[in-house]
Amino acid sequence: MEWTNWSGWVRSQPQKFSKPKSESEIVAAVREGVGPVRVVGSGHSFTALGQTNGTLISLDDFQGVVAADANTLTATVRAGSKIHSLGRPLFDAGVGLKNQGDIDRQAIAGAVGTGTHGTGPTLGSLSAEVRAFRLVTADGQVLDCSQSSNSDVWEAGRVSFGSLGVMSELTLNVKKAYKLREKNWVMPASECWRDLAKQRDAHRHFEFFWFPYSNDVVAKSLDETSETVAEPVSSEDMAARGEKVTADQRTFKYGCEVARFLPSLSARMQQMFTKASMGASSRARWSHEIFPSPRNIRFNEMEYSVPAANGADCVREIAEVIRARKIAGVYPLEFRFVKADDIWLSPFYKRDAVTISVHQYHKQSYDELFGAAEAIFKRYGGRPHWGKLHTLKAAELSRLYPRFDDYCALRKRLDPQGKFLNAHLAGIFGEADGQAA
Ligand SMILES: Cc1cc2nc3c(=O)[nH]c(=O)nc-3n(C[C@H](O)[C@H](O)[C@H](O)COP(=O)(O)OP(=O)(O)OC[C@H]3O[C@@H](n4cnc5c(N)ncnc54)[C@H](O)[C@@H]3O)c2cc1C
Repeated sequence: MEWTNWSGWVRSQPQKFSKPKSESEIVAAVREGVGPVRVVGSGHSFTALGQTNGTLISLDDFQGVVAADANTLTATVRAGSKIHSLGRPLFDAGVGLKNQGDIDRQAIAGAVGTGTHGTGPTLGSLSAEVRAFRLVTADGQVLDCSQSSNSDVWEAGRVSFGSLGVMSELTLNVKKAYKLREKNWVMPASECWRDLAKQRDAHRHFEFFWFPYSNDVVAKSLDETSETVAEPVSSEDMAARGEKVTADQRTFKYGCEVARFLPSLSARMQQMFTKASMGASSRARWSHEIFPSPRNIRFNEMEYSVPAANGADCVREIAEVIRARKIAGVYPLEFRFVKADDIWLSPFYKRDAVTISVHQYHKQSYDELFGAAEAIFKRYGGRPHWGKLHTLKAAELSRLYPRFDDYCALRKRLDPQGKFLNAHLAGIFGEADGQAA
């Protein structure tokens, strides 16, 4: 069989494909797996994390809420659960995830594995809300990991992209079910820079999208509300909703195709898409329904987190370079806030951060755009999103992550034979590419 990631740019032909239905079947799949053994969620990472010519494990048949408690504000879920499938059962138990990213298509363990995040200066990534997990290690042991049990594996393992083992179950901190009002508006970029701290502090969630050839940004905020909102839809409807290609997306795809064949029209397209977003809009829903938006026009993405204080300078520099070099593309830059955490390989390790994403339509080469952006990210001490494209290897990563060597030592202790290492991970950890795909 052939496996591809969401953008279609990462492909592999594993000789073995396992779909365990229970924890004991996960143990067997890992024990009997031919290396590299890689586990995937929804394949929404742009990097080659899931690539293997050995064994690929999918937990699509191991989903569901095990327990959710509105008193302890915790929820235990099976690792393969798609985020969209969690919203309704958690709501029925009176709770919701504290924050979410742009989409809800990922498996929870896949999202946690790469430090997936939404926006909000007081809110950490999904990984920062992991209270405990069960981990199947290379030799088939199952470790209970929390602050009080295997605490080093817990500290490191919350952002470990399948390099320490396969998570079977996770316990997350959650919040009493809550509603959010979303507001979208367009403002001059100069106003955005002037009021950035004010907007950040005024909202639970604030972010903006910036088509870099435009002088305006498209801003978005989400704030808690007690107003009456529509009843949440069923899990099935949530699953279907995220796959929909909306009229806006169809128009956007048309713009991508035009700019692909006529790159000189990129600037005009971007200005047109900014204009199309004018006219403020607003709506209110339960949290799990309002966070995600359908994103079905495929792209590749690079994202780095930089120290929060330097975020505005960094994104402005990226836009300047795009304009100066007339780099083609129609996607906006995305700018979000994430609170510091203490996870060893988290991009937010001990650092309040701003994340800046750069996207390129999947039918276009991203080399020029991402190369230009990455050079700037590096100068700002940027740390890459593990699921999004970057070129960093062990030597550079060890300078960016104070606990990098501790992580490598822990990884070697748990997986001395490198069963979970593919070529991509071997590069990250500075290991010989022995078993690599
Ligand atoms: C359209 C789109 C929108 C996105 N929006 C955001 C966003 O808003 N914010 C953000 O931060 N990111 C975003 N991303 C990136 C995405 O959230 C991450 O790449 C995420 O890791 C993908 O989850 P997945 O379930 O597809 O995992 P995969 O990509 O399949 O896997 C990711 C990693 O998790 C590991 N993994 C999976 N399951 C397990 C398990 N059971 N145990 C141990 N390790 C496991 C895999 O081995 C791999 O290393 C977006 C991506 C796309 C394509």
